[in-house]
Amino acid sequence: MDPKTPAPQAELHDLGVTELAALLRERKVSAVEAAQHFLARIQSHQNLGAFLALNEDATLAQARAADARLAAGTGAALEGVPLAHKDIFVTRDWPSTAGSKMLSGYRSPFDATVVSKLKDAGAVNLGKLNCDEFAMGSSNENSAQNPIGYTTPEPVKNPWDLSRIPGGSSGASAAAVSARLTPAATGTDTGGSIRQPASFCGITGIKPTYGRASRYGMIAFASSLDQAGPMARTAQDCALLLSAMCGADPDRDSTSLELPAEDFSRRLNDSIEGLRIGIPKEFFGEGLSADVRACVDAALRQYESLGAKLVEISLPRTELSIPVYYVIAPAEASSNLSRFDGVKFGHRAAHYTDLGDMYQKTRAEGFGEEVKRRIMIGTYVLSHGYYDAYYLQAQKIRRMIADDFQQAFQHCDIIAGPVAPTVAWKIGEKSDDPVANYLADIFTLPASLAGLPGMSVPVGFGANAMPVGLQLIGNYYSESRLLNAAHRFQLETDWHSRKPAGI
Ligand code: GLN
Repeated sequence: MDPKTPAPQAELHDLGVTELAALLRERKVSAVEAAQHFLARIQSHQNLGAFLALNEDATLAQARAADARLAAGTGAALEGVPLAHKDIFVTRDWPSTAGSKMLSGYRSPFDATVVSKLKDAGAVNLGKLNCDEFAMGSSNENSAQNPIGYTTPEPVKNPWDLSRIPGGSSGASAAAVSARLTPAATGTDTGGSIRQPASFCGITGIKPTYGRASRYGMIAFASSLDQAGPMARTAQDCALLLSAMCGADPDRDSTSLELPAEDFSRRLNDSIEGLRIGIPKEFFGEGLSADVRACVDAALRQYESLGAKLVEISLPRTELSIPVYYVIAPAEASSNLSRFDGVKFGHRAAHYTDLGDMYQKTRAEGFGEEVKRRIMIGTYVLSHGYYDAYYLQAQKIRRMIADDFQQAFQHCDIIAGPVAPTVAWKIGEKSDDPVANYLADIFTLPASLAGLPGMSVPVGFGANAMPVGLQLIGNYYSESRLLNAAHRFQLETDWHSRKPAGI
């Protein structure tokens, strides 16, 4: 490194993935310096409750290896770029808990495919991020794990207003990116958990088409819906990360798509002149708050000025996506979580009389309230006598919701609307009312049920000066088109580069 050009340490955390990767490549900053800078920020922002686990030795070992490759000129696309993983992804060198007491202290013998792919692309892991227990939730109030610096579980705070939730379940991923504790993070989205926290924290996030990213090593919630994706400040950064995360994994995830790895950055700069943006009328009804609507409308006008054409479309079963999702997701969860029985791994009750008692006590102690609620709902809808009335019926409507999208895509290239009906609410405001939380998922659930790619792009500030995201939904495999539409918008606006006061 040239001693005359000191590394711009002070501003390092304001750089995005793309800029940081370039600086690292030019060797203006080393991977070790970058990692140390972000680790120090994580320590000084413990009040956010975002991080569950750090392992400085492992982080710095990865950074040193990245520096060696950078010095040898063999660095990969993300060489030396720090990032952090939602604690749903298993990692060998950090504990993996899914925010659950059931997995307190659990160490995985392997890395999730997404984790190892990002590592292969040169990224350096800073640590593990808090999340709602088993990714069930919309507020990050459902974690049973203590964030670093705390001795009890603590809801994650929204950096824009510490008395508000960051969204969920990837709420800490969004909070950490928005507070510049990491340039990027992984998230998972089963019913909106990348898009909604991205919207609530003013960052960019994308959930790719179901099956794009391998689910191997992603602690399962609802297997037919779970999908990994990147959360960063810009669409350009998300494109870089997504290119590294995706790819077929046929030996380990039978639902991963057999598509070759794709460069999602290649169409970022394409013109969007003539792009047909479908506006689902059901997304703009009574439930949508006026402040969110105003931001979304302004963004749509901006798209028009970029040459896009707005087309009214209909997604007539939007409302049904709530009951359908809250039958299917708990059904799959009840089955997936049966593996936590105190035998194979994780928590086991200390005192019990026989095997049945051990199962009961282990599960009663290990799972939180929301998880238990879903296991009960899921078991009920799958039980003999109710299966046809609930689960089968939900599956049929799920198919119709997917068909509605195909109908809509005959008239438009992408779909745009709000991510959530309101801005981030106050911590505790909905914590006693699970249904109020479920209802707030209305705009993200349809794309999840259909397996379509969706993203959130910052488009302004609504009530209480809280961030608002625009949701863009594409047809299957159209991630590059979504990222292109988001990038063109971000070239013209600066909502994505605003930062919370005091950060
Ligand atoms: N809020 C939704 C739920 O609670 C979605 C969660 C997610 O996408 N992981 O299930």
